[in-house]
Amino acid sequence: MVSEHASPLAALGGVDAGGQNVHVAHLAAALAARGHAVDVYTRRDAVDLPPQVELVDGVTVVHVDAGPPAEVPKDALLPHMEAFGRRLAEHLLERPADLLHAHFWMSGVATREAARSVGLPWVQTFHALGSVKRRHQGAEDTSPPSRVAVETELAAEADAVLATCRDEVSELADLGAPHDRVRVVPCGVDVDLFTPDGPVGGPERREQHRVVVVGRLVERKGVEEVVRALALGPTSALARTELLVLGGPPADHLAIDAEAQRLRGLAEELGVADRTHLLGRVDHSDLPALLRGADVVVATPWYEPFGIVPLEAMACGRPVVGSAVGGLLDTVEDGVTGALVPPRDAVALAAALGPLLEDAPRREAWGRAARERAVAGFSWREVAARTEDAYEGVLARTRLEAL
Ligand code: UDP
Repeated sequence: MVSEHASPLAALGGVDAGGQNVHVAHLAAALAARGHAVDVYTRRDAVDLPPQVELVDGVTVVHVDAGPPAEVPKDALLPHMEAFGRRLAEHLLERPADLLHAHFWMSGVATREAARSVGLPWVQTFHALGSVKRRHQGAEDTSPPSRVAVETELAAEADAVLATCRDEVSELADLGAPHDRVRVVPCGVDVDLFTPDGPVGGPERREQHRVVVVGRLVERKGVEEVVRALALGPTSALARTELLVLGGPPADHLAIDAEAQRLRGLAEELGVADRTHLLGRVDHSDLPALLRGADVVVATPWYEPFGIVPLEAMACGRPVVGSAVGGLLDTVEDGVTGALVPPRDAVALAAALGPLLEDAPRREAWGRAARERAVAGFSWREVAARTEDAYEGVLARTRLEAL
C-alpha cells in the first residue's frame, strides 16, 4: 500500500490526519490477519523515524525519503511524488510485491510511476476527489491546480478503482473512469473497539441531553450548523442539550486555532456558549467511551467522501443524525439507524434532532439497528475480504492479459 501523507502511525485529528490514516492502518492489519504480508509506504516526515516499523504482525510501515524530512502540508507534496515513485520502485526490488494499492491521488502519481517501472498492477482508492472538493470549496480549495486532470488520468489508467461509496461511483463516472474497473469497497470500523457496551467517558453531564460531534476542526465538517441548531427551538429538547465537539488541535492549542475561536465566538453570539464544549483532539482509543456518552451523534458535513465517524458511532450503538451526502448515504439508514438531513441547514438539523432527543425508545431502537448494520457491512474483516476480492480480480485479469 502507498499512503504518501497519511501514515498509519500518525496521531489523528489534526488538519491532515483523519480517516485515511485509520483506513490504511486497519485495512492493512485486516489483510494481514487473512494471511497477506502488507508493506505500507509513507513519506518520511521527520528525521528521526526509523526506516521501517512493524505496525502489527504482517504489516510493515516503510518510510520513504521524498522531499524534506519534515511535516509538509499535503497540498504542497505533489512536487515530491516523482521522487517518491522512484524510491518506491527501488524499495520494491528489495521487498517484492504482487500488487500495489494507492491511497489518495498523490499516492496514485507515485504508484503509477513505480508500477510501470517494476511491472506490477495497481489499484487506486481516492478517498476524496478534487472535482468534488473544488465544487464545494471553490477558491478556498488549496489543492494543486492539476489535481482534477491527474485524477482523471489515474481513474482511467489504474487496473481497478475502489470507490468508498455509491456517490463516488457517479463522481468517477463523471470523470470518465471505465465503469467495469470501478467497484465499491467501503471504509470500515473497528467493531471490537467501538462497541455499545463498555465504559462511558467525557466531562460530567450538566444538561439533560448530550450530542457529540467528532472531526477535524475544518469548516466543511459543519460543526457551525450544530451550534446553530442548539440555539433553535428554545422550547424543545435542544434547549436542554449540551454539545461536545471532539477533534482539532490538542486542547491546550484550541485558543490559537482559528476555527475553534470562530465556533466559540458563534456559540457566544447565539447564547449557547455554556452548553458548547470544544474538547480538542482525543486519543482514538478514548473515542468509544466518549461516543457512548452521547444520546445522539451528529455528523453534518457539507460534503463527505466517506465519513468514518458516523460508522464509529453506529458501532457504539448510537443513532446518527447526518447530512445526506457522500458516504453517509450508504452508512446511515434514514429512519432505521438515524436520520439524514440536507447539508448546511441548521433548521432541518434542529427539526430532526429535537424530537429524537425527546424519544428515548426510538434512540435505542435506532442504536441497536445501527450496531447491527455496522457489524454486518462495515467491519474491517468484511472490508478486507472485499478488498482481497478486488485484488484477486485484478491479478486474474493481469495473468490473462499476460498469456
Ligand atoms: N479521530 C480521532 N480523534 C480525534 C478526531 C478524529 O481519533 O480527535 C478519528 C475518528 O475517530 C475517525 C477519523 O479520525 O476514525 C476521522 O475520519 P473521518 O472519515 O470521519 O473524517 P476525515 O478526517 O477523514 O475527514
